[in-house]
Amino acid sequence: MSAGTKYRLSIDPERCVGHGRCYDLAPALFAPEDDEGHARVLVQIVPADQLERARMAVASCPEGAVILDEA
Ligand code: SF4
Repeated sequence: MSAGTKYRLSIDPERCVGHGRCYDLAPALFAPEDDEGHARVLVQIVPADQLERARMAVASCPEGAVILDEA
């Protein structure tokens, strides 16, 4: 990972079923979107100090719905 690399965060709405782990783990990055707990992202480009949280959210989503890729 180079120092200037930016990472983009997104959620695959086809996969998200609303476990809510992402916004429990990283409330600065995700929020609930509806009454069923589906998530939305609050940022597209992850701030450097939230990158570890973003990675934890990727690892913790049971549906593999959190996507983190290079911007
Ligand atoms: S943890 Fe995964 S399935 Fe659960 S709300 Fe977040 S993105 Fe959706």
